[in-house]
Amino acid sequence: MASVRLRRLAHYSQRMKSTAGRLAGDACDRDVIWDRDVETETHEQALARAGGAWDKQFRHLMDRSAFYARKFREAGIHQSQVALKDIAKLPFSTKSELKQAIDENPPFGSNLCVPPEQVKRVYQTSGTTGSPSVLALTRADMDMWTAIGTRTYFATGIHDHSSVLTTFGAGPFVAGHTHFVLSRIGSRSVPVAPGDTDRVIFGLKSGLADTLLSTPSFAQYLANRLEKAEPDPASMALTHIVTGGEPGGGIPAIRDHIQAVLGVTVTEVMGIGDIAPSLFGECPQQEGMHFCGGGHVWVELVDPQSREPMTIESGAVGELVYTHLTREAMPVVRFLGGDIARVESAVCECGRTTFRTRVIGRRDDMFIVRGVNVYPTAVLAVVGEFRPRVTGRARVIRRGPEVSIQPPVPIEVEVPGSPGPDVALAAEIEAAIHTRLTFRSKVDLVPEATFGESGYKTRLTVTR
Ligand SMILES: [Zn+2]
Repeated sequence: MASVRLRRLAHYSQRMKSTAGRLAGDACDRDVIWDRDVETETHEQALARAGGAWDKQFRHLMDRSAFYARKFREAGIHQSQVALKDIAKLPFSTKSELKQAIDENPPFGSNLCVPPEQVKRVYQTSGTTGSPSVLALTRADMDMWTAIGTRTYFATGIHDHSSVLTTFGAGPFVAGHTHFVLSRIGSRSVPVAPGDTDRVIFGLKSGLADTLLSTPSFAQYLANRLEKAEPDPASMALTHIVTGGEPGGGIPAIRDHIQAVLGVTVTEVMGIGDIAPSLFGECPQQEGMHFCGGGHVWVELVDPQSREPMTIESGAVGELVYTHLTREAMPVVRFLGGDIARVESAVCECGRTTFRTRVIGRRDDMFIVRGVNVYPTAVLAVVGEFRPRVTGRARVIRRGPEVSIQPPVPIEVEVPGSPGPDVALAAEIEAAIHTRLTFRSKVDLVPEATFGESGYKTRLTVTR
């Protein structure tokens, strides 16, 4: 008897082992980890690898970056070398400082660390606050971005046998770099312009792709639309959606609905334009995004208010801070990315040892109600539970630049079609927000037609 049980147990653990880190239905025998050396190393090994790269990078910055040489000098750093373990002695870099560095000496700015003729690719930022910035890459920088991106997307379960419909444009934004990544993985690529919903639906219904790359807003819109229009949307060849560009793919109320309607697994990725377009990738275990930038990017966690360093350990919540270890053209040091993240356990069934994280929200989106910090993603998580009476999108309305909002907090919730006023629904959502998030709100139901474009990112807070 015991031997039968043992045999069954052995069979079971073998089966679990073969599926760990792999999407349901993926029967290939490819190693699920792209870069096993880096992605399974111990913290000490990661530190040694990064430390060696950083020593060279520090020299590169001091010799070539007018911007950082001055910034470090002004911060009282006169040493010829600052070790990686002492990096907290160096000042932070902000988005506006990097923008200023470009404006000082356009088009590439005082932080360009290579001769301009070595710049081989240029992306632009969206320029939502002022004119766009440029992001310059050398050939080695492009390879570095592709290497990190390949680990990231491979971690989500995209393999060479995948067929990937991507709604990320080739440019001007860094998400366009994903096209090089898919090519490196060796998957089939089906590019569709952002916002071309009809062509996305055509591609999915005709079976051109089993994987979709999109924002969670768009995936949610697609699920809502196909749920109404198709008898069985889950019967399409689509099995996997990778979301990026904004949080949402990791919020249960959003993820579960997309998965149930379309019969897919949702995983998410995250990147930062100034650092690398894909830097964190969630494996099919769906418990947060693994850090995939080992050897090229160093990540710190700091307290969002005091900016004091925090330990990256399970349960910690802080702002992610990034330093390039190998970037040639426009390296940044201790860049405040603005994303507030919770660290999940690094122990994962897939075998990776890199820490996992879930983004809670943008620092700029945070507001305070009666002394408590609130991120709009928490509101989304509550609102999403009222589907199908709501679409899943919502936003917080701010009346001015103040971080503190006096309750009731004005919230707009998108509802399908253009119904009459559903007083009961608004009151139910207000009650749920009060119970779960402990603040009073004033919910306005807004029809789909007037809520705004659903093809790209959804602004989670609006000031008006
Ligand atoms: Zn994993």
